Amino acid sequence: MRLSNIEVKKQNRINVYKTILEHDKVSRQEIASLLSLSLPTVGQNIKELIGLGLVAETGELVSTGGRRASSVSSLPESKIGIGLDITQNHVSLAASNLKGEVLAHVRIPQKFTNTNEYYQSAANLTHRFIVQHVKNTDTVLGIGVSVPGIVSHDGKSLQRSHLLNIQHPTEISLSDCFDYEVWLCNDASAASMAELSVSPDLEHMIYLSLSNSVGGAIILNRNLVEGNNLHSAEFGHATIIPEGRPCYCGKQGHFDSYGSALSLASYGDGRLETFFNKLEGKDPLCIKVFDEYLDTLSIMISNIRVVFDCDIVLGGYVGSFLGPYLPEIMALVENRDTFAEKATYLRTCRYKIEASAVGASLHFIESFIQSI
Ligand SMILES: [Zn+2]
Repeated sequence: MRLSNIEVKKQNRINVYKTILEHDKVSRQEIASLLSLSLPTVGQNIKELIGLGLVAETGELVSTGGRRASSVSSLPESKIGIGLDITQNHVSLAASNLKGEVLAHVRIPQKFTNTNEYYQSAANLTHRFIVQHVKNTDTVLGIGVSVPGIVSHDGKSLQRSHLLNIQHPTEISLSDCFDYEVWLCNDASAASMAELSVSPDLEHMIYLSLSNSVGGAIILNRNLVEGNNLHSAEFGHATIIPEGRPCYCGKQGHFDSYGSALSLASYGDGRLETFFNKLEGKDPLCIKVFDEYLDTLSIMISNIRVVFDCDIVLGGYVGSFLGPYLPEIMALVENRDTFAEKATYLRTCRYKIEASAVGASLHFIESFIQSI
């Protein structure tokens, strides 16, 4: 598809800006060479970016001879994205700059209720977080809110959430609590966005989110695939053991009943960390439970792999604990694999802390970069 002149110009500007964001300091010549653009085009774009307050001249780079190249740098904190992750018992907050760097994050106990009081309280915590961690509150682009449930395409309402006990489409009345724009997203999709931001090597990815419920995200060409009914990547409701354990959705044998964080935490006094401590301490019951967990997980991973034939990232609360057990999981998956001898397509998440809040904060950052 041919792009119009205006679209080419816009894309050039975005590419020049992204290149500056990726470097601490970079010269006009380097950008021209990296993007195969003419020096005047790069110069004009930099002038405009300086005018927008997004880029600054940073002096001269050391030259090997001849004229010294003057360099430019981004001003990454000229815009900030905020992420608010809502769970049953906590809210988490994160702030990211234009480079996608996390400036601060925090997790605060706060029991969810679908009431105005709750939303006002979450908004107050967010305001306090912004004042504490953002130098200039005018730089905040918006609040990305991630929730454990299915969210409408327009990011305005929550269609359904078992964990938050919401059965019908519900407007999350946070917009009234902020002067900023608010955008709602699914927590696993948000976490996959955070993961993508630190995985430039991944073109296609399945993110398997093993949290208090199991979800996931399908990423093709670095874009989220939502499905016709927003139900894509609902791996928790894949039948893994016919007539098996009851699932919270009312059916039986779904992966959620075997793969969720709750299925392990219940053997650690409700805490996943306690479960893994007991496992490390060779607690016999925890060893047995974990062996069964990994066996079922390996079936799920193998099924995902034969369908999508791409990299698979184990994320969510459990995913952040699975690093030491990855060789064991890979061996189980390899036993089931028809095509590959080594399950090198499998890894654990790089974002282990507050991935959903970070991913939600990146929504406004990415939209802003695409809009310059
Ligand atoms: Zn189910």
